[in-house]
Amino acid sequence: MQIFKRFAALFPAVLSFSVFAQTQPILVQGAMDIETSTLVEALDDAKQTTIGSWTFWQGDIDGYPVVVSRTEVGLANAAASTTIAIEHFNPKYIINQGTSGGHDPKLYRGDIVVGEASFNMGAYKSEFTEKGKGIDPTKWQNFDVTMRLRENGEFVEHKQFKADPALVETALSLSEEYKKGKVVRGLIGSADEWNREVDRINWFHETYGTSVEEMETSSAALVAQAYQVPFVGIRILSNTDQHKQDFDPQTAVDCQLYTIDVIKALIKKQ
Ligand code: SAH
Repeated sequence: MQIFKRFAALFPAVLSFSVFAQTQPILVQGAMDIETSTLVEALDDAKQTTIGSWTFWQGDIDGYPVVVSRTEVGLANAAASTTIAIEHFNPKYIINQGTSGGHDPKLYRGDIVVGEASFNMGAYKSEFTEKGKGIDPTKWQNFDVTMRLRENGEFVEHKQFKADPALVETALSLSEEYKKGKVVRGLIGSADEWNREVDRINWFHETYGTSVEEMETSSAALVAQAYQVPFVGIRILSNTDQHKQDFDPQTAVDCQLYTIDVIKALIKKQ
């Protein structure tokens, strides 16, 4: 009896410790300070950690663990910081969010694209042409990404990285509440590029169906795919040369506020 009483007294502590230990955080990424500071402010009890040159803030939203990650700009930074985040924090979901440039002429600054898929818009091969025949980017072909399957090492070609359908639906489910523009499904093109030639922007949109361009999502999605962590990209149009709308930093804040609502909706479902 004595032993039983002791065990019974210990049990809730053991149980709550193990539940706490097993709760996987939601990882939310942004490239720059203006794309992460609103998220960091939304965290309760934020604790900052820097690994290499990538900074993470661990805290809670509505009592659930959330890690905000500042990936820095570009594909390589996004891949490195996503790998570190997965190895270090073992996230349940990854949301990559932030600013982007409009490709789809139906979209305006302030609109939000929930990426059903993303791809590396900056990887190309060209056919051989003789010296003096010139350079023609419209003939270049986008490279697929070849990755090995985790289970058996087999090669798989990825034209795009698909987002997790349930995360996409949760992200879209709040669209009615967003007052600064529309929220649509779309395709995110990522590259270490900032394109402003409208003919090139239209070529991307017509050839690949891009909604927006930016510099991180597909790279974070590649790493999430490798580790099989559910992933979604949420990108606001901060600028679009389709409508001569220049970069507005307020959009970075609006995207974070929308993403906080998405995170809260996800937490409610846990
Ligand atoms: N460090 C630079 C800013 C880089 S802007 C500076 O201060 O001048 C690039 C960032 O904005 C990337 O993280 C990218 O994801 C995003 N972005 C917004 N609009 C973009 C566009 N039209 N093309 C490419 N990236 C864009």
